Amino acid sequence: MKPSLPHVLTFCLAVSTQAYSRHSGKASKTCAGLQSKFGDSIVQTAGAEYLSTVSNAWSLFNTLQRPTCVMYPRNANHVQVAMREIYRDKVRYAVQAGSHSGMTGWNNVDGGVLFAFSHMKDVKYNSTSDIITLQPGIRWGEAIAAVESYGVAPMGGRLTDVGTGLLLGGGLSYLAPEYGFSADLFKELDVVLVDGDLVTATATNRYSDLFRALKGGANRFGIVTRYAVEAVHTGTKEDKLWFGGLILYPEEAAEALVNATAKFVRSVTEPKAALFTCLFYAKTGGVLTDTHLVTLFYRGPSLPLDIYGDFLSIPFTSQSLGPASYSDAVNALGPGADRGFGQNFGGSAIAGPTSRYLDALNHFKNYSSIFQDELDHTLMAFTPILQSQINAGRTRGRNAIDPPDGPYAAVVFQDQYKQGVARISQELQDGRKLLFKQIPPSPGLPLYVGESDATQNAFATYSGYEFLKRTYAKYDPTRFNVQYADGPPGL
Ligand SMILES: Cc1cc2nc3c(=O)[nH]c(=O)nc-3n(C[C@H](O)[C@H](O)[C@H](O)COP(=O)(O)OP(=O)(O)OC[C@H]3O[C@@H](n4cnc5c(N)ncnc54)[C@H](O)[C@@H]3O)c2cc1C
Repeated sequence: MKPSLPHVLTFCLAVSTQAYSRHSGKASKTCAGLQSKFGDSIVQTAGAEYLSTVSNAWSLFNTLQRPTCVMYPRNANHVQVAMREIYRDKVRYAVQAGSHSGMTGWNNVDGGVLFAFSHMKDVKYNSTSDIITLQPGIRWGEAIAAVESYGVAPMGGRLTDVGTGLLLGGGLSYLAPEYGFSADLFKELDVVLVDGDLVTATATNRYSDLFRALKGGANRFGIVTRYAVEAVHTGTKEDKLWFGGLILYPEEAAEALVNATAKFVRSVTEPKAALFTCLFYAKTGGVLTDTHLVTLFYRGPSLPLDIYGDFLSIPFTSQSLGPASYSDAVNALGPGADRGFGQNFGGSAIAGPTSRYLDALNHFKNYSSIFQDELDHTLMAFTPILQSQINAGRTRGRNAIDPPDGPYAAVVFQDQYKQGVARISQELQDGRKLLFKQIPPSPGLPLYVGESDATQNAFATYSGYEFLKRTYAKYDPTRFNVQYADGPPGL
């Protein structure tokens, strides 16, 4: 018999409460100490703000943990002091910025200390240095809107509700073909190391290895309290330097879209051309239905037909193409702010012949059809990583991902479970594992840590993996972070 939704939730909350009481003992002392130092608005153990933080993560699976306290830092010093005590007391911890991690446990913690950056949301543009400074609590929609009147933007993501944790995974945006992964535009990072030391890392100072490791090393290398990034001159809202938008397609367009995407990845070399292809499956009235979409943006007055002609010639359901500002582009897919659904990501990376992309489509469609009753929807999306993006990262001192030469598509699979369902069946878990085997990354290609499953071990697919391991051993010699915080495996 299938359990009803309230039963599933009650069961999971019970499990979560048991885990909480196991871990909360040591953390209670640490939290009490921090509370007496900073007061109970900065360190909270209960109350409306505490509850809203712990229940507001994007994935329902990350709303079930109960930290012993939530620390709401106002500055880097608060993080330093707290980290020193967490390190001394050997307490579990987690960090939450935009809360969009699809990995359970990466942005919340049971019975430990959760850092929530909701009071550190400043963004500033310095026109002399041409640098934008971001505090970690800002979301992309807010950051882009705040500096748009100066005609600049920070490189972030493609949906407005997502936060700065994206940068630590690398970051894919419509600007990527021209400028690299979003992290490639880092200029200076303030980082609180596991033992509470605060350092400023740049490409050329004594922390240059840490600086590079943070371009893809996710939450493993410290807590970033300030990002200074190169400003991209994207124009103001009125300038509308792009042309493009969203096209929606009917079910039968899937194969043609995959063909067109594979060809785009192989043949397009123009850094002004961005594309995102998304195939979306849901079950309505017992039948698997699919809607597909692309967003395409070209930095220029129109969409060149030699680049986008295939997409424009596939019969579509609706389109909203036109002149666009950068903020229009980032708003094209909406905020991505839905809450209340359990989420899981998986990833792949594909290069080469169209047949590999079509294989992926067939396996994904088959998976979606088998498990759709348990799911609200599934989607598979392709982001082209052009050679120009790889080169841009190298020119700026290399990131930790450092893909090999040659264009490829970063692939994400997303499962969104039914609203309120907090556990997934064993069959579905097995199905996900099989899917990852059926659609492996092409040899040598990196997975994107922000959009893959922890079991896929994205770090091990990076060209910079050995570098990442060495750098981790240097900055966290007691391996505190990997023992006391959830995050990517492999270090
Ligand atoms: C709807 C949606 C759209 C997305 N679109 C894109 C996209 O266009 N491009 C793209 O590249 N990715 C995209 N992603 C994936 C995204 O990169 C990851 O989900 C990313 O982890 C989100 O960052 P966050 O700050 O919102 O999430 P969080 O869950 O708050 O943070 C993510 C991870 O980073 C850690 N972290 C956050 N801040 C810090 C810090 N200051 N110091 C140390 N560790 C920290 C957290 O502990 C967590 O492990 C999308 C995800 C979703 C759900």
